[in-house]
Amino acid sequence: MRATIMYQAGDVRVETVPDATIVEPTDVIIRVSRACICGSDLWPYKDLEPTPGGRPMGHEAIGVVETVGSHVRRFERGDLVIMPFAFSDGTCDFCHEGLQTACSHGGYFGIGMVGGAQAEAVRVPLADGTLYKLPVKEDDALIPSLLTLSDVMGTGHHAALVARVQRGKKVAVIGDGAVGLCGVIAARRLGADQIIILGAHPDRTALARDFGATDVVRERGEAAVEQVRKLTGGTGVHSVLECVGSEDSMRTAVLVTRAGGAIGRVGVPHYAGTPASREAFYANVSVGGGPAPVRAYIETLMPDILDGRIQPGRVFDRTIGLDEVPAGYQAMNARQSLKTMIRP
Ligand SMILES: [Zn+2]
Repeated sequence: MRATIMYQAGDVRVETVPDATIVEPTDVIIRVSRACICGSDLWPYKDLEPTPGGRPMGHEAIGVVETVGSHVRRFERGDLVIMPFAFSDGTCDFCHEGLQTACSHGGYFGIGMVGGAQAEAVRVPLADGTLYKLPVKEDDALIPSLLTLSDVMGTGHHAALVARVQRGKKVAVIGDGAVGLCGVIAARRLGADQIIILGAHPDRTALARDFGATDVVRERGEAAVEQVRKLTGGTGVHSVLECVGSEDSMRTAVLVTRAGGAIGRVGVPHYAGTPASREAFYANVSVGGGPAPVRAYIETLMPDILDGRIQPGRVFDRTIGLDEVPAGYQAMNARQSLKTMIRP
């Protein structure tokens, strides 16, 4: 089969690799119907050291179940399913608590022995706990929005929950990538009164306004902090969704949070210690977040997609075939594409 392998920064290839096969009886193999390139794939695209054998890429997919392991109970050949970016057993204490990304037996796609989803097919471990069956057909118009439940929409929702977004509150969303934009949708959905998006890209902040952002701050650093304070009567926001992961963005997050407020961080941190931790301490700012348990949020968010109340699929601005994936990485890295969908 064909699959995407990254060998080092800037070196992504689509190659013929051994077919995905059942390894454990709890596995299924899905034929990938849609996959995506994720903002988090751009970190290794920028800084991956030379990796002998390469790293399989892709952790977001909708697919059709093709082969079913002998212990799988909930799925059969032909089911259309969402694959969250992490696999999980659905039975351990953490899964029962709704934190599937801490599953005692879980892990992530594209790491270790588990392949990536930017491929014709992928092996899904612990299929009964991991996958979610879709109530629509493979060519449904809602598929792009449903595909965001495998990562970006669930991740934006997680940031909003950790940041304690509530009805009537003021919110800042840092980052105008797909997760930030889904964070705007999530904040709106939870009833926030004011939603300030921090981002510099005009097309993306325009989409953020469509999704419910009330204000746009294009500045960065100190100037951004000043703008947010000005927009909130000097106090800052109750909730910050930190959707970038850089030291600068985290510092901004702390400095725009109102005393007693909370930060939900979902950008993979590229800093060693939390910036501005003294400021955070003296303002009683809570800093939380991590890999979103998107499996837990599919049930919460899917009804809103099926009813058309939210349209996170609008973050996709480009669709490519598998052979165009290397060009897709280039385009996303150059910020010529917000989020790229792959149809293998
Ligand atoms: Zn578990």
